[in-house]
Order: sequence, then structure tokens, then C-alpha cells
Amino acid sequence: MSASQNIDLARHPLTHWAGPLGLPEFDKIEDSNFGPVFDAALAAHAAEVEAIAANPEQATVANTLEALELAGQPLDRVSSIFWCRAGAHTNDAIQAMEREISPKMARHFSAISMNDKLFARINDLYLRRDALGLDPETLRVLEKTWKGFVRSGARLDPEGKKRLATINEELASLGARFGQNVLADEKEWVLFLDEGDLAGLPEFVRGAMAQAAETRGQKGKYAVTLSRSIYEPFTTFSERRDLREKAFKAFAGRGETGGETDNAGVVRETLSLRAEKARLLGYGSYAALKLDDTMAKTPKAVMELLEPVWNKAREKAAADEADLQRLAASAGSNDKLAAWDWRFYQEKLRAEKYAFDEAELKPYLQLEKIIDACFDVATRLFGITFKEVSGIPAWHPDARVFEVFNADGSKRGLFLADYFARQSKRSGAWMSALQSGYKLGEGSTPVIYNIMNFAKPKAGEPALLSLDEAKTLFHEFGHALHGMLTDVTWPSVAGTSVSRDFVELPSQLYEHWLTVPAVLEKHALHYKTGKPMPKELLDKMLAAKTFGAGFATVEFTSSALVDMAYHARPDAPAEPAAFEAETLEKLGMPEAIVMRHRTPHFLHVFSGEGYSAGYYSYMWSEVLDADAFAAFEETGDAFNAEMAEKLRKHIYAAGGSADPEELYKAFRGKMPSPEAMMEKRGLV
Ligand SMILES: [Zn+2]
Repeated sequence: MSASQNIDLARHPLTHWAGPLGLPEFDKIEDSNFGPVFDAALAAHAAEVEAIAANPEQATVANTLEALELAGQPLDRVSSIFWCRAGAHTNDAIQAMEREISPKMARHFSAISMNDKLFARINDLYLRRDALGLDPETLRVLEKTWKGFVRSGARLDPEGKKRLATINEELASLGARFGQNVLADEKEWVLFLDEGDLAGLPEFVRGAMAQAAETRGQKGKYAVTLSRSIYEPFTTFSERRDLREKAFKAFAGRGETGGETDNAGVVRETLSLRAEKARLLGYGSYAALKLDDTMAKTPKAVMELLEPVWNKAREKAAADEADLQRLAASAGSNDKLAAWDWRFYQEKLRAEKYAFDEAELKPYLQLEKIIDACFDVATRLFGITFKEVSGIPAWHPDARVFEVFNADGSKRGLFLADYFARQSKRSGAWMSALQSGYKLGEGSTPVIYNIMNFAKPKAGEPALLSLDEAKTLFHEFGHALHGMLTDVTWPSVAGTSVSRDFVELPSQLYEHWLTVPAVLEKHALHYKTGKPMPKELLDKMLAAKTFGAGFATVEFTSSALVDMAYHARPDAPAEPAAFEAETLEKLGMPEAIVMRHRTPHFLHVFSGEGYSAGYYSYMWSEVLDADAFAAFEETGDAFNAEMAEKLRKHIYAAGGSADPEELYKAFRGKMPSPEAMMEKRGLV
């Protein structure tokens, strides 16, 4: 009947990888294959899981936990190729397939976590866990697996399960509505200006505004819109205080317009359902539920991080405010500095103090040399080496293949990289795995890839990067190292399978080595003269980066604190808007700064559950990377061998095989403190 019945998963190029170096034979893959192969692979996985659940023998680690971890290999393989193509080289057929596959996958995995017989076996093992003589990693995998089932509602009675399913569905649709309301408000509002209203605006802002007006059918006019890429530069540069105020009020009021798109009801209902979900699953608050499997673990730990940062940021912002007020006065304004003045005067101050042209750096940052720098740093820190192999087909001719070797010359895995932007690639930069590295069963070596979106140079010219782009290259390569250096037994804790507030440590930390003088001297060479980048140029650039940290940190931290206040209480506030105001009042929020994301348009927190009670994690990761790099700085050597070995062993190789707090302490000897981060941000 279905085409999937004719698929031989053991031979199909999507699930049986017979290409050079163990890669898939990309040139044999046809887009029309994905659908039937997915169906066959889902059915095969479901059958494997059913056999594990129905096993009449008592549960053992081998017949249950191990069998479950190793099940579904064809599904893993077709998925990894499919998602690679969906991001890096898509087309209409792949996009249509994406819409079909996502709900199928969600249903498939939800059925597994609701499988009572399967959970009974996991639960049996879990209850006997201390008597099984397990090594620490296996014990952790068992506990994590058990917790995963419990958090999905496996222990609830039938009525509780039904209620949880209803809550999850309602939360999903509330999240979608929240996002659509914000989008509608952003689309709805526009301010058309004429040539005469543009005082202060640089060419790039005028260009973007002209373009925005044209797409709205007002060619020849200039549109202020609420897209951050227009709103922020407009309020930064416009000399017209009245227009800045208008734009600011519209931007800060997204989702709070009182009409059909007002998010007050959505937020109230969301918070109430989240509190109920936490109670149902046995947690004291929604934040406790969300943080349970993170490094921070508790709302209290998050507050202990955010509070000292908040206090320092407010002090810094207060000092900056006085400077800006003076600048405003000397420019002839007697008004008290308002929220729509801050970016404007801050930019004036920046131009005065840190005049700097970023384009001066570019000739020193050649893509090929920065790739070499990434590899070179990995060799110096971890002993691994890279060798490019040409002539191997991947998902696109631009994708390059590198073999990765251990210090003793043995094979570690593969690294693939696809650097240039093209129409078939989504924007941004990311790391992912075609195959992860683990030892269980027959074992598997990591096949990791990086995708970038750098502008492709004309033939014969070198690709040059901005400093931010070079940092992105190091960032994603840091994630790739997390995947490539992995040294664990169990697939579910391999590589980047760690908590949300830990996963950016290996990537953000790696960025630090880009600006280590020894690295720049060797690799940041002018593409014409071959001379290294002058140190003064870099120092000027770095000093400019910390400018305005008080404002940025207050904007960010107030959002993180309000997110936590909403979710760390056992119930939900009756009036979220009033609660937001009270919380800010208690915190002593400066009058002339607003939250980066106010409640009615806080998409991270309310358009889905991904970053709810989790906005803090951006800053948490920053604390970790600054504190971790300080460990090297304290030795006076950015390549200190002893630190590097600890870093490899406890962070890059360990994946999620142990509690992240223990891993960090094993590397650093102590828990991280926010001092290094505050210094890096220029707050102290
Ligand atoms: Zn990242």
C-alpha cells in the first residue's frame, strides 16, 4: 500500500551511508525519497520500541536502557540529512516536507514518552538503580531518562495525563497567538516621513526606510517601522525628538494596544496554565520545573547571579545618565532625559569618545586564515589536527570536508564546513551533527558540521570578514569542538546534549582565543601586504565594544528578572501588567530605560516554552565563558597545557555525562562568579 513498504532501510542511501569516509552518498539522494524513507524509519523505530516494551524478561540496562538508546538509527540518519538540507540547501519540496514531518515526529516521540509498558520498565530499573552497580555515566543516563518520562507526565493517572495533554495543547496555541499578535502590531504600525524629517539619519538608515516605504506602496517616502533593524537605528540617530518619542511609544507598546491583538489575556492565561502544569507534575513553581534539569537548577541560584549584576549595571547606568543629561543640556535641551533620548545621546557620546571605523580591520581578516586560526588553536589546546579532503560530494559543492585526527594520529572524526551565503540557505550561523560520537554498541565517530553565511567573493579575490564574522566562525567552531571532542559512552549525553544554560559555554569560550595576541599575530595578516594587524587598531575596537554597557545590561537584566518573578511563584498573578510594574518598582528600574522586552511582546518567554523562565541563560553562559577564560589568564598563558587538558576532559569531551555544575567545578576548581563577566562588559 504505502510506498514506505518498498524501502529497504539497510540499503537506502539515506539510511545506509556507503560514501567515502563513511559519509552518505549525497549524489545518490533524491528529494522525493525523504517522505517514504521517513515513514519507513518511523515505523521501524516504533516497532523496535514496542519490542523493548513488550519484552517478557525483567528489565536490565542492556535490554531496556541500552536497547532504547540504540534504537532508531535509520530515523537518526534520515533526520540528520534532512535537517541539514532544510537549513543549508533547501527548496520547495524540502520545505513542503518540513511541514509534514514536524508534526509526525512530535506525535511519534510523544507516543514513546506516553508508553506505559515502556515507562514501567524504566521505572523498575530506576527504583533498583542503587543495587545495579552502575558506573556514574550510566546512572546519570538512567536518571535523566526516567526524569524525561516523568516530566512528560508518565506517572500521572489517566485523568492527570489527559489534563496535561490539554494544558500542553492550550499553551502551544496561546504561544502561537502571542507571537501572531506581536507580529500584527509590528506590521500595522508605520510612520511615513518625508526627506525633511530625516535630520541626523545616516545613509544606511535612510536606505532601509526608503525600501520599507516602497514595499508599503509609498515610493519616495521614508518609513519608520517597528522592526528592530529600523527602530533601533532610527531612535539612535534621529535629531527629531518628537519622532523618536512616537516611535519609542509604539515599539514599547507592542502587544498592548487594547484592541484585538492585545496580549494581556494571553499572558494571564499562559501564566495560569504554566503554574497548573508545574503543580500537576509536583513542582513548587513553573521556574522550578523548567530549571530542574539545568546547571542553575533553582530560581534562587539564578537570582544570586542576576542581583549583583543588576546592582552594578544600575550604578553604571546612573553614572552614564548624568553624562548624557549634561550632553543634552549642552546641546540646548532643558528636558529631563527620557527613554527616547537615551540611544540618541549615547551615540553622540560614543562618536565623540570612540570614533572608529570597523572597515579598517577587514583587510586583516581573511576567511582562509581565520579558518586556519580555528584549527591552530584547537591543535595547541587539544592536540587534534585537521586535513582537508577534496573531491567528496556533500550537500552542496561549497561544503568542504576535513578529516580530524587525534594527537597520536588515530582518527577522531569528520568536520564539514559550508561558509558562503546562497539563496537555498537560511540566514544565520550554526553547528550540527550528521552523526554523533559515542561508544555504546558498535560505537560511532562524530561527523560535525558548521554553516556560515559569509558573502562569497568574486573569483580570484580573498573572502574578508568583519571582526563579528570572525567571532561567529570561532563561536560555531567551539560548538563543533564540543561535538568532535566528545568522549562518552551513551548517545543521549554525547557532544552538545547538555542543558540550555551550559551549551553556549564551549562556543562563547572559544571566541576568546580569536583576540589572543599570539593568534592575531600569526593569522590576522593583511591580504595585500601580509603584515599583522596593528595592536592599537584592535585595542581601539575592543574599548569601543564595552561602551554603553550600563544601558544594555539594565535593559537585559530587568527582562530576565521579570521573567523569573513571573515564574518563580507558586501561582500566577491576576494582573500581569500590574505585576510587571510592581516588580520593576521594587527593583528600582531607572526611569529613562525600559526593559529590552516588555511583557506584552516578550517573545522569548511567551511565544513558546523554550526560553520561558530561561531568558537568564544568555547571561549565565556569559558568566561561564568569562570565568572559564579567566582561568587561563590567571596562569599568564592562554594555552596553559594543564588548564587545556582539564578543559578538554571536563567540558569539551564530557558532553552531558555528568551534572554540569560538577563538570564546571572539576575544570575550574570552583563555581563561576560573575566578576569576570562584569569586567568583560565594562561594568567594573
Ligand atoms: Zn551558540
